[in-house]
Amino acid sequence: MKKHNFSAGPCILPKEVLLKASEAVIDFNGSGLSLIEISHRSKDFVAVMENARSLALELLDLTDKGYKALFLHGGASLEFLMVAYNLLEKKAGYLNTGTWSDKAIKEAKLFGEVVEVGSSKDEDFNYIPKGYSVPTGLDYLHITSNNTIYGTQFKKFPKTDAPLVCDMSSDIFSRSLDFSQFDLIYAGAQKNMGPAGATLVVIKEDILGKVSRKIPSMLDYQVHISKDSMFNTPPVFPVYTSMLTLEWLKNLGGIAAIEEINEKKARLLYSEIDLNPVFEGYANIEDRSLMNATFNLTDESLKSTFENMLKEAGIIGLNGHRSVGGYRASMYNALSLESVGALVDVMSEMERKG
Ligand code: PMP
Repeated sequence: MKKHNFSAGPCILPKEVLLKASEAVIDFNGSGLSLIEISHRSKDFVAVMENARSLALELLDLTDKGYKALFLHGGASLEFLMVAYNLLEKKAGYLNTGTWSDKAIKEAKLFGEVVEVGSSKDEDFNYIPKGYSVPTGLDYLHITSNNTIYGTQFKKFPKTDAPLVCDMSSDIFSRSLDFSQFDLIYAGAQKNMGPAGATLVVIKEDILGKVSRKIPSMLDYQVHISKDSMFNTPPVFPVYTSMLTLEWLKNLGGIAAIEEINEKKARLLYSEIDLNPVFEGYANIEDRSLMNATFNLTDESLKSTFENMLKEAGIIGLNGHRSVGGYRASMYNALSLESVGALVDVMSEMERKG
């Protein structure tokens, strides 16, 4: 039976990407060698890295605009500290929209003063803070565009004269934005790009080189830029698979095309959540995420009936994050409208059963 994979990450990837990636593990480009047994300095792999980096900039419409794309190790969690290491001289601003921003704040505090410019902690992070004022004199302002755990997403971005840094781990390449409003974007690969193990970092070069501390080479963005993202052995398989996903997205028509599909999927699911009395949404309606829809049963005694029905329908990965419970349907780029339809069918069946 077909599985409908709503996992929050690692998560569903396009079938054709998985097929091509698995072929390359056996025989890369017809070389008779595996992608993962050749030198990362070989001509074929260097071409992969270059293609992945330029596709990332192209899809974000940041080519020739002073940005560099890197594929690094360490997940988005390493970026929590690399951002501060490279940019925080005195004082940085952070918007606290949940667990991941909280973790970013914790790391930044090791390097300097952190101002919490806004927070939605008072309502268990079910909304995006608004009406805050951003102080002047910040080294940078950090936000988390999509809050994977709570299902909230920034629709409007703060205006600031400081560099704007964005953790886009769970919504990169999913919606059209003016990406040039950001000076540094980072995202773990394992949602809309590829397997865990690589992190995409897109940096406007002119924000670098302004801190007085010494930065260890592996944590220094300028070192990685000067080595074309090959300072040390890169995570070759995640980079290759990310390249395939970016090619898939480009062939589909880019971010604008996937955004249309993502909006359809989200509309279908959220209208079911709103109209069906068996369920209630978690996130504030105007801040709802297109990627992660969070909801609860209005009557907890229906839990096992609902979960059995999900299982029978081949729907997996719907459990909410362990810190908040409930349900979370993650609708990343590779998830089909048909899968959302399968979930909505189960939800309406729950209502029919009473
Ligand atoms: N930021 C966000 C928004 C995330 O969703 C996650 C992981 N789910 C992280 C950061 C941490 O990413 P990683 O596990 O790659 O360090």
